[in-house]
Amino acid sequence: MTNNLRITCLTIALILASVPASLFAQDVSLAIVGGRLIDGYGGPPLHDSVVLVSGDRISAIGTQADTDIPDGVRVVDADGRTVMPGMIDLHVHFDILGHSDYEHWFPAYEGRMRADILPAAARILLDAGVTSVRDLGTDIENSFWLREQINSGKIPGPRLFIAGPFLRKTVTSFVSKEFVDTWVVDNPADGRRKVRKLVERGVDVIKTQDENLSRAELSAIYDEAHKLGMRVATHLFSQKALRTALEAGLGQWDTIEHIGDGAQPRYPDDIVNMIVEQQVAMAPTIMADEGLRQIYLNQELVHDPAWKRYIATDIYEDIRGSFQHPARHPLFTGAVIHRATKMMKLRQLFDAGAPFIVSSDSGSRANPHHIATAREIYYLHEEVGLSPMEAIMAGTRWAAVVLNQHHDLGTIAEGKLADIIVIDGDPLQNLGDLRHVLHVIKDGKIIR
Ligand SMILES: [Zn+2]
Repeated sequence: MTNNLRITCLTIALILASVPASLFAQDVSLAIVGGRLIDGYGGPPLHDSVVLVSGDRISAIGTQADTDIPDGVRVVDADGRTVMPGMIDLHVHFDILGHSDYEHWFPAYEGRMRADILPAAARILLDAGVTSVRDLGTDIENSFWLREQINSGKIPGPRLFIAGPFLRKTVTSFVSKEFVDTWVVDNPADGRRKVRKLVERGVDVIKTQDENLSRAELSAIYDEAHKLGMRVATHLFSQKALRTALEAGLGQWDTIEHIGDGAQPRYPDDIVNMIVEQQVAMAPTIMADEGLRQIYLNQELVHDPAWKRYIATDIYEDIRGSFQHPARHPLFTGAVIHRATKMMKLRQLFDAGAPFIVSSDSGSRANPHHIATAREIYYLHEEVGLSPMEAIMAGTRWAAVVLNQHHDLGTIAEGKLADIIVIDGDPLQNLGDLRHVLHVIKDGKIIR
């Protein structure tokens, strides 16, 4: 490029930068018109809102009174509805569809993952208004395959962020190689090496799942992950393991999945203090247990047309048949008995100032994709005490922060990616309305 040309380009760029956004109206590809806008930042909603989209990004936000909608632009009518960011779920499983028995599921459907299971899970989540997810368990090659299919537009689905194999001290019979990838960590140096290998392979988050990794091993894993810009999702149950993980340096916006499980009514103060001071995010996966209880209370839930949609009939019939006797499920007693103590601990953590995010464990037993994320948000309010706005932000803005994607996702603002949903109802008055998703827009394209 000659110097003159370079100066001309620079001049044009400067002129363009000073032109008001409205002059680019001809670039507007979509307008979401009317409705109350919850932008994800936590302030009061904007009534009679207009959101203009240009390509895959949001180009302007205003009200019907002050925003010109260019002629001929495709309009999504949101009048009387709620417009909000697409939901983000930080703990889903694409390779399961809510069947009650994993021991049966994985051998039975291993050969149908790419043809049937993964596409169904992706489509159902997206239809439910979930536009970004973190998968914490699907086989790594299937995860990369699915991400490629979604990104190239071949399979409709949420943006996919991938954990890859669990890092563990041992391979248990339950988490066997057949079900999910597991990598065993032999010592601290090995932990670092495996984190680097995962990052080179293209994962978005490091997942540890073990009670028996030593403090030195965890420190090495966390430190290496943080140095490489990764966050850690950890999956632990005992208070001893939790303390070890916190002492090992679990950090800001790392997540503790399934936090609160177990019979103890409270966490010791030192654990709560470390969680709050280190700003580790709480991922209680309330729906991982709650789903079974709900099917026990109302077996029609398994007949919900939204559950069947997109799932091959024989697979759906198998899932439905697995819930003949929900109260006899091995996890039922624990889910009922420990519900109260789990909620007590979650309220303790919330009252102490711990951040919460939405991790529904979508796809796990009795926890189907069409309902998991909305319900998790609902229970963060109903049982833990987040306000409806805080609960929505836990599944939009703050979830985007955990993904390190908040520059693009989780809020509705000029320049962000246009992942927007329209809800029939007012989730600030009734979070149950999050189930009533009328429209889903991802990357500026109308999905439904
Ligand atoms: Zn899970």
